[in-house]
Amino acid sequence: MYKAFLIKYGEIGTKGKNRYLFEDALCRQIRRALKKIDGEFAVSKEQGRIYVEALSEFDYEEAVSALQTVFGILWICPMMQIEDNGFDDLAANAIEYMKKVYGDKPVTFKVKARRARKNYEKNSMEINMDLGERLLEALPNVSVDVHNPDAELNVEIRNKINIYSEFIKGPGGMPVGTNGKATLLLSGGIDSPVAGYMIAKRGVIIDAVYFHAPPYTSDRAKQKVIDLAKEVAVYSGPINLHIVNFTDIQLYIYDQCPHDELTIIMRRYMMKIAEYFAIKEESLGLITGESIGQVASQTMHSLAVTNEVCTLPVMRPLIGFDKQDIIDISQQIGTFETSILPFEDCCTIFVAKHPVTKPNLKAIKRSELKLREKIDEMVKVAIDTTETIWID
Ligand code: ATP
Ligand code: MG
Repeated sequence: MYKAFLIKYGEIGTKGKNRYLFEDALCRQIRRALKKIDGEFAVSKEQGRIYVEALSEFDYEEAVSALQTVFGILWICPMMQIEDNGFDDLAANAIEYMKKVYGDKPVTFKVKARRARKNYEKNSMEINMDLGERLLEALPNVSVDVHNPDAELNVEIRNKINIYSEFIKGPGGMPVGTNGKATLLLSGGIDSPVAGYMIAKRGVIIDAVYFHAPPYTSDRAKQKVIDLAKEVAVYSGPINLHIVNFTDIQLYIYDQCPHDELTIIMRRYMMKIAEYFAIKEESLGLITGESIGQVASQTMHSLAVTNEVCTLPVMRPLIGFDKQDIIDISQQIGTFETSILPFEDCCTIFVAKHPVTKPNLKAIKRSELKLREKIDEMVKVAIDTTETIWID
């Protein structure tokens, strides 16, 4: 029954003079999301409102789901939009609306009118009163409750008139493309896709780096990461995924360094290489799925030692989250099922039985000296042989 949606946005409403940039980015992201489904839509903005209008047949559920992937949207309100043909016509349409949405169920309601166009024949209070009366006369199943109604019938008098009472929750956040770019260290685990999602939700474009270690990690492990990147891209928009062959570096570290320091040294090289791609792609920071104390390499001491190799800010949006909180989000955004597929990623193969939990930076740097003969060349080869895939 609906042909249009009113899109309500949150924080971008507070951005002062830059507001139009945020609104334009939001319109762009809405168009991108709707392009993936059947049907033609027009997306337009009018004084703090964004409208989505269907120009062809479309599937309502599909359209709502698509809109629910667009960061920046707080509420999706399916609406009836009519021309201003006088109050009698408005009343007839409002009655029609209530009949369609609520049938003959008993509902309490109140009218909430907003007259944004001041030359309309009645003011907001008058619309509230008079329209309420018309509805009561026409519909035997409805009654008024001004304090706690089942339905708040919004009537907005603008160029056209918007009638709506349903509010469907959007994902919140800010439109992607309004806050620079960051590079996500994406593994096949549960955490890093969630970390990417959370930073994208703040308006940030995502680039990703995956460290692959064939033959220790299989093609299916790589495919799993590609699939995860696709799942994050549903929300974040296109992701440039760099797949780095990390095998030789890992084996070299394994050969040269104390095994209890393996993970931490590996992680330092991962961060260094990820930062290379970040700078190359003009990213302003790195993102990881780390959370304090989750594993040995994520104690405060380990994080400090890992961080030391980076010059860009490292964003760890899950830093204070318990695993279950992260799992809940991954289920909600749809990455969980892919994340728990059983293919090993490179970190789980080269793990020591007793990794250091309080690494000492000086000691780690001393161990890294043992790599000095070949490591720079190996890093260069890893970078030069990186495969980059555009994920959309
Ligand atoms: P995830 O955190 O994604 O569930 P994980 O639990 O295996 O993976 P760790 O191995 O401790 O976590 O890694 C911590 C973080 O380092 C990950 O969240 C991810 O950002 C990054 N990372 C780990 N392994 C890789 C990899 N193979 N490629 C890219 N990034 C990785
Ligand atoms: Mg983790």
